[in-house]
Amino acid sequence: MKKKTLIINGMILTMDELQENLIHCGFIVIEDGNIQKVGKLSEVDSSFVNSIPDIIDASGKLVMPGLINTHTHAAMTLFRGLADDIPLMTWLQNHIFPAESKAVNPEMVYWCSKLAAAEMILSGTTTVADGYFHEGSAAEAFAEAGLRSVAAQGVIDFPAPGVPDPAYNIDKTEDFIESWQGKNDLISPAVFCHSPYTCSSETLQKAKKLANRMNTLFFIHLAETKGEVEQTKAKHNTTPVQYLNSLGILDENTVCVHCVWLDEEDIKIIAQTGCGVSTCPDSNMKLASGVAPLDQMLKGNITIGLGTDGCASNNTLDIFAAMDLCAKVHKVKKLDPTVVSAGEVLKMATIDGARVLGMKKITGSLTPGKRADIIMLDLQQPHMQPMYNADNLVYAARGSDISTAIIDGNLVMKDRKILTIDIEEIKERVRSLSRDLTETI
Ligand SMILES: [Zn+2]
Repeated sequence: MKKKTLIINGMILTMDELQENLIHCGFIVIEDGNIQKVGKLSEVDSSFVNSIPDIIDASGKLVMPGLINTHTHAAMTLFRGLADDIPLMTWLQNHIFPAESKAVNPEMVYWCSKLAAAEMILSGTTTVADGYFHEGSAAEAFAEAGLRSVAAQGVIDFPAPGVPDPAYNIDKTEDFIESWQGKNDLISPAVFCHSPYTCSSETLQKAKKLANRMNTLFFIHLAETKGEVEQTKAKHNTTPVQYLNSLGILDENTVCVHCVWLDEEDIKIIAQTGCGVSTCPDSNMKLASGVAPLDQMLKGNITIGLGTDGCASNNTLDIFAAMDLCAKVHKVKKLDPTVVSAGEVLKMATIDGARVLGMKKITGSLTPGKRADIIMLDLQQPHMQPMYNADNLVYAARGSDISTAIIDGNLVMKDRKILTIDIEEIKERVRSLSRDLTETI
């Protein structure tokens, strides 16, 4: 017999372009992990409600699609607050790379990714795209937490954690993809090349070929700083975007992260090639990298998802905080309160994030046929009253307002208690790893 769950009495935000977006008192039927029906409660009778024994009462809550974080490095929770207020290149070379060379091993990646998974679930994220080293350990942590994930193994032309000889970075990534492809419905393995300035053209092309052959996504940090553009122009006589395009890297299975420093031609190329963009405004602001031309990218019909980036450059994984900041930073840069609206940002964090990750048929909206990735937000908090429309989700809501998370039809968090993993044990393990790290640096 098929397992059915009925969610009733909540306000429903569908994020589905073909349905009514905001239903004031609605219902959702979940059958075997799929969203089967969404509608107004007034349109069904009590016999329908009584026919489903498993009922979740969402009175006083907003029921919406789980949020999507299109870019992070989950295991970097260990480095949260380790080196703040430093320029990107100094930060990478003097702080992050040395700390990574000492601290990153499979155990660290497992526990710190698990901490990240807990933080994300508690703040409403139900799908994450992660990129790091020892990514198998991250994938294991996400699978145990019940978090939908694109787990991408890091590729870089330096000795890296788990890949001491960069000559084997592609082989290592291939092994990782082979071991996770088809293993767990929640986990999609992928390739993450760190950047055009840390990977050679040969490595970039080999990595993209591997992604094509294995039918996975390909992620890359791109055009993050002005310095990167200058360096690429000096070395390759073109912009980072045009350089990657000339290598055949850009297509609809490539996700370009950051895209802060783009010229008009770059924007055209991104639009024409169909690659997705993950914008990470918190990270770009904290590292003073710049403000991405998001309004121009939106005008150019580029699909944009929202990312937090890793905890070393943010320092939280709360997509509600990222939405608020994203909707405001572009307004102040352009001195125009109409650019990058709350509605557009909400799409980036849900349906467009799903598009960027090639998951629009699976998640990102409350649409019949999609998997049930659903969160419930407490509307009774003073800062959520009154509720005229969905804009308060961007400008007033916080991750801590989320009470319930359902991922792939499974109840993963109830009344702010995560049901899949032991948060106290995780915190203890990460604190112990942080003590080890401070002793060695
Ligand atoms: Zn990043």
